[in-house]
Amino acid sequence: AAKAAGKNCVRTTGEALDRVVDRRARLARDLPDAIADGGLSLELQPVVGLEEGRVLGLEALVRWRHRELGDVPPEEFVGVAEDEGLVVPLQRWVLGTATAVLAPLLAQGHDLQLGVNVSVRHLQAGCLAADVARALAASGVPARRLMLEITESVLVDAEDRVERELAALREAGCLISIDDFGTGHSTLARLSRLPVDVLKMDRDFVARIEEDPRTAAVVASVVQLGRTLGLDVVAEGVETLGQVTALRGLGCRYLQGHLLGRPVPAADLPAVLAAPVADVVRGDELPSHV
Ligand code: C2E
Ligand code: MG
Ligand code: MG
Ligand code: MG
Repeated sequence: AAKAAGKNCVRTTGEALDRVVDRRARLARDLPDAIADGGLSLELQPVVGLEEGRVLGLEALVRWRHRELGDVPPEEFVGVAEDEGLVVPLQRWVLGTATAVLAPLLAQGHDLQLGVNVSVRHLQAGCLAADVARALAASGVPARRLMLEITESVLVDAEDRVERELAALREAGCLISIDDFGTGHSTLARLSRLPVDVLKMDRDFVARIEEDPRTAAVVASVVQLGRTLGLDVVAEGVETLGQVTALRGLGCRYLQGHLLGRPVPAADLPAVLAAPVADVVRGDELPSHV
């Protein structure tokens, strides 16, 4: 309720504002313990290759179930972490945990890429590349298995230090993706110079792809842009078979979204990876869980 009040009211009442402030203070107070004492968890969501017909990657998504407040959305508490100087310990926990989840799957022969969301504050702090190297060394995960997801808005006005960190990560063999691509006003000139490998097309485009021919045209040009620049394009937020069909028709080969698989705890991954995705991807049959 506090979040809704903060987001949706233009003129927030004094009382509602107090609640927003209280909640934020509460989260700021409790987050350090959650990071240090096992209060956080990860869910992982599959990324599927249309041509391969299988799960090619997993995106790590951080979760926090607060004792009294219940599930706190990651966007909310990552924001708190950024404001409270907690983003480096938070991201270290995510990197360490996500690579520790991936390592045994690789050892079992699964051919997977791991996507980890990154905060610009960690890049600005100048220790992301070192923290990534430490997580890779501790888990034994090869650098080329790790893809760091950075929101487009960050890259538009990236400072030199941020660019140096990105270059160091890439030098080490990690991949870089632009998350929520299409929402951040990057210029084509800038995009062609950025050290990136993958575009993750924002789910707003996918949501409108069937009804709105202009959106479909934009998606087609993003796919073409990816081809021209040598970048893979992943469509986020795929929820319907119609969207799969439309994306396939426009040449988009990589899909992520509830239709292909919801985020799940690490314990559920063996079942997710064992289940066939070919039916969904071909579009002739609805998977049983939808
Ligand atoms: P994101 O990186 O763009 O992640 C995708 C979000 O879309 C996730 O929300 C995911 O659960 C949701 N999603 C996936 N498929 C569908 C679908 O078919 N329909 C809809 N409606 N949603 C779908 P989530 O987990 O709430 O995360 C929200 C954002 O929080 C992420 O957006 C990312 O920016 C941030 N975030 C999550 N984990 C981390 C983290 O470890 N570190 C940082 N810095 N940010 C994180
Ligand atoms: Mg992401
Ligand atoms: Mg995204
Ligand atoms: Mg997003």
